Amino acid sequence: MIKFRKTKIICTLGPATSDINVIRKLAEAGMNIARLNMSHGDHKFHGNLIQKIKTLNKDLKYPIAILIDTQGPEIRTGEVSAELDLKVGEIFKFHVIPGQEAEEKSVFVNYTDIVKDLKIGDKVTVDNGLINLVVLEKNERELICRVIDGGKLGSRKHINLPGIKVNLPSITQKDIKDISFGLENDVDFIALSFVRSADDIRQLRAIIDEKNSHAQIIAKIEDQEAVKNYKEIIEVSDGVMVARGDLGVEVELEELPIIQRKIIKECAFQGRRVIVATHLLESMIQNPFPTRAEVTDVANAVFEEADAIMLSGETASGKFPVRCVEMLHKIALRVESSGGGVGYVLQKKPKNKKEELARSAASLADSLKTHAVIVITRRGTTAINIASFHPEFPVIHAFTNMSSVRRKLWLNRGILPYRINFSSDPEKTIALAIETLKKNGIVEIGNQVVILSDMIAGIDGTDRVETIQVRVVK
Ligand code: ATP
Ligand code: MG
Ligand code: MG
Repeated sequence: MIKFRKTKIICTLGPATSDINVIRKLAEAGMNIARLNMSHGDHKFHGNLIQKIKTLNKDLKYPIAILIDTQGPEIRTGEVSAELDLKVGEIFKFHVIPGQEAEEKSVFVNYTDIVKDLKIGDKVTVDNGLINLVVLEKNERELICRVIDGGKLGSRKHINLPGIKVNLPSITQKDIKDISFGLENDVDFIALSFVRSADDIRQLRAIIDEKNSHAQIIAKIEDQEAVKNYKEIIEVSDGVMVARGDLGVEVELEELPIIQRKIIKECAFQGRRVIVATHLLESMIQNPFPTRAEVTDVANAVFEEADAIMLSGETASGKFPVRCVEMLHKIALRVESSGGGVGYVLQKKPKNKKEELARSAASLADSLKTHAVIVITRRGTTAINIASFHPEFPVIHAFTNMSSVRRKLWLNRGILPYRINFSSDPEKTIALAIETLKKNGIVEIGNQVVILSDMIAGIDGTDRVETIQVRVVK
């Protein structure tokens, strides 16, 4: 069994990782959550992956949770028959006339209002910041630009318009179809791309509620609007992702580390989960070893106590997907054991009695240095509450009676989730939890444990009892 690591690992699955045996290897190396990116691949491709994960989950010791990531309001260039060569200083045009073929110095853009939204002097960024242009002139059909940073332009490349309020819905028609597909397949998380405000999240929440789903929402912070509204967005989401790929194009690069730190801190204060994503081990798409800077970047996310770290191209289309997970696992484990975290311990202010109780349990376990912390939790809230205080003890053993809740708890730093059957007698449920830990060699007779439980009496949950207990294992 691999050693317990507090920081969770998310892997994007793609062509390099669509084989069931490779997915199994990723899981065994430490992947907790699989990400399916709806910007690439069709429903058949993703449906196949979901079936493979569900098959694996029947016998994996730690089942994999599934996250789908929407495409969002992406602007893209049209098709080109051969790559266009954009040279520094020359004139290049973006036109909005559908059906008009690309020419040597002109390409179609799928966003008609680009000619309205942009002013002379504004910047157009293509292919994740590789090619940059500035607007010189415009009319209702085209933008006439000068190339600032040149390069080769292929088909369907992503365009960013830093700082421009794009007049596209945050949840597009394609996104709605992809979200329905995800909910029909009972995925655990929906990550919403290019979130701009808390209202976008509310809109997604309404779609999820309408389908009676318990899928949780991850807000992807990836442009200036989202950075401006980050506090409200964090408040209404179940978690957020610092999506550094697009964010690094939408804001000045030197702002990136500051924004990352700010978001992680706010999430800690608000008790929300946070994922650090993209370019963590970028060079390992090609090479068997990461750069020193990448190792240090991963370590930084772990020091900052992010809940999860995420791989994108490294696992979707890279040469060494399993090695990448092994590498993240090793770095995270080492950094966690070095004791150099920022320690958000107990900084969050409890918002209600339940959170107060969770904080007391965390504090008790930390000061007594008990052998284990056990949480009995039906919907996962009590477990998430205790994790949200960033306690120092190594593992929160969370017991739930629902597989779907168990999978969602993979997103929390420090939680090791289990599924057991709950009994109408709270004592029996606790006994079963302790028995499970004994069987796994985690506690033995004489060990002191802290037990936090909410709703341990009555299967229907009517007879709620919230308790913190310190016990000696018998
Ligand atoms: P996003 O901005 O949403 O992260 P992306 O294009 O950066 O989109 P990632 O999910 O980060 O995509 O994956 C990195 C790369 O891996 C992609 O650019 C693509 O080349 C490849 N990839 C990912 N998923 C798939 C897939 N399902 N099919 C084909 N290629 C994929
Ligand atoms: Mg995207
Ligand atoms: Mg990406």
